[in-house]
Amino acid sequence: MTRRDLVTIGAGPAGMAAAAKAAGLGLSVTVLDEQPRPGGQIYRDVDRAAPLRGDILGPDYAHGASLTAGLRQDGIDHVPGAVVWAIEEGFRISYTRDGQGAQIMADRVLLATGALERPMPVPGWTLPGVMAAGAGQILLKQSGVLARRAVLVGSGPLLYLIAAQMVRAGTPPAAMVETQTRSDITRAMRHLGGAMRGWRYLAKGLKLLAEITRAGVPRYTAARDIAIEGTDRAEAVCFTRRGRTHRLACDTVFLHHGVVPNTQAARSLGVTHRWSTAQGCFVPSVDDWGETDVPGVFIAGDGAGIGGAGVAEIAGRLSALKLAEQAGRLSTSERDRQAAPLRTAMLREMAVRPFLDAAYPPCAEALLPADSTIVCRCEEVTAGDIRSYAGLGCLGPNQTKAFGRAGMGPCQGRYCGLSVTALLAEANGQTPDETGHYRIRPPLKPVTLGELAGMETASQNAAE
Ligand SMILES: Cc1cc2nc3c(=O)[nH]c(=O)nc-3n(C[C@H](O)[C@H](O)[C@H](O)COP(=O)(O)OP(=O)(O)OC[C@H]3O[C@@H](n4cnc5c(N)ncnc54)[C@H](O)[C@@H]3O)c2cc1C
Repeated sequence: MTRRDLVTIGAGPAGMAAAAKAAGLGLSVTVLDEQPRPGGQIYRDVDRAAPLRGDILGPDYAHGASLTAGLRQDGIDHVPGAVVWAIEEGFRISYTRDGQGAQIMADRVLLATGALERPMPVPGWTLPGVMAAGAGQILLKQSGVLARRAVLVGSGPLLYLIAAQMVRAGTPPAAMVETQTRSDITRAMRHLGGAMRGWRYLAKGLKLLAEITRAGVPRYTAARDIAIEGTDRAEAVCFTRRGRTHRLACDTVFLHHGVVPNTQAARSLGVTHRWSTAQGCFVPSVDDWGETDVPGVFIAGDGAGIGGAGVAEIAGRLSALKLAEQAGRLSTSERDRQAAPLRTAMLREMAVRPFLDAAYPPCAEALLPADSTIVCRCEEVTAGDIRSYAGLGCLGPNQTKAFGRAGMGPCQGRYCGLSVTALLAEANGQTPDETGHYRIRPPLKPVTLGELAGMETASQNAAE
């Protein structure tokens, strides 16, 4: 079986930057990513889409091409379409590609698996025609497809970016229903001084808002009691605002209220996680090189805490420096010398984060949904079900599996995990850290028996 100095899981800005830096320092690197082309979430399909739709997706998107170019150098083997479903000690990494299982060994592993959109369980969110806003953006980036009569619901900078991209594409959203209130902005103002060091992001946000306003997209802020109505599919978004009830007819609903680290792989390896009150999610414990408390396991990018693409890129390079030092390719003093300008750039990139976290808190109703709302989509478990399990003595997410299969479907708790923790924590009067999270075991992603059988044949062939 092939053994590499480093295997990076994820070809977003963190994984690509880390791989290029590590290979430049002499490490043999394999990059595994489930997507057919490199780029991650922000630079998804950039090599193909930037020449076709660069004017819609914006100049920041085009920057991704410099990172994908870095993957095309000696010492890097980029394996697209590789879905990683197990990482075992040692490290043996199992993945499937083109319907076939495969394995690779690594001295060290960098998890650059990025973020997931925070699930937004509101009444009606499982109806056809309702999707995460990021999914709508994926359709645009990858296929140039846009939904007509779409209403964007939630909060956060990504919601504005997607709305502006829809405007530029000539299919503006029918409306934006935003959960942000004036008091969120007032709270955020406390961080404005620090945020000014990241003024480029503030200016970009104002520009996006101006584009949306100029296009005449109706914006409803401070929306409450959000529900999606429809029989066979989404037909309207209903909400109250300042005592008035609204009903907006639509064909598609895009939901978004922030992103959270994708921690599945890190959890499966036993990395310690703690609750971040500022970001309202669990984050893995890493040092300032991205090294975890599991020897040989590093995490860079949004998977280590939400920082954005600029932070992810820098974090990937910092991890590569320490990985190279551990592999004996770089002295400690040289590592620190090369890290110094990266750390300065990191501080600049991070400056705006406290402002953004305070200005765009997640929607409280979706964090603790009404009883009848489904939280585990795979197994159709409602918020009321989870509360009833707590009433019967259920203390943690792992126990909910025995009570009602929550977290046992194909997503393995990736999407319902935070909702289940929040509901149990509230019902039992505990903190999220006390309540904990699902214990994650392989397979991290669905794998078929055929894929497993194919892998066995491949190893037998190798042995013969
Ligand atoms: C849906 C979505 C859309 C976004 N769009 C934008 C945007 O337009 N602009 C912006 O500024 N920010 C956007 N963000 C935020 C942005 O993604 C991040 O700030 C940035 O991309 C983080 O980079 P990263 O390298 O940490 O992770 P990512 O760019 O997310 O890359 C992670 C990669 O890991 C891969 N991966 C994960 N798990 C596995 C596995 N088990 N096996 C194989 N591969 C795996 C994924 O396929 C992905 O390519 C978006 C976030 C999301 C969730």
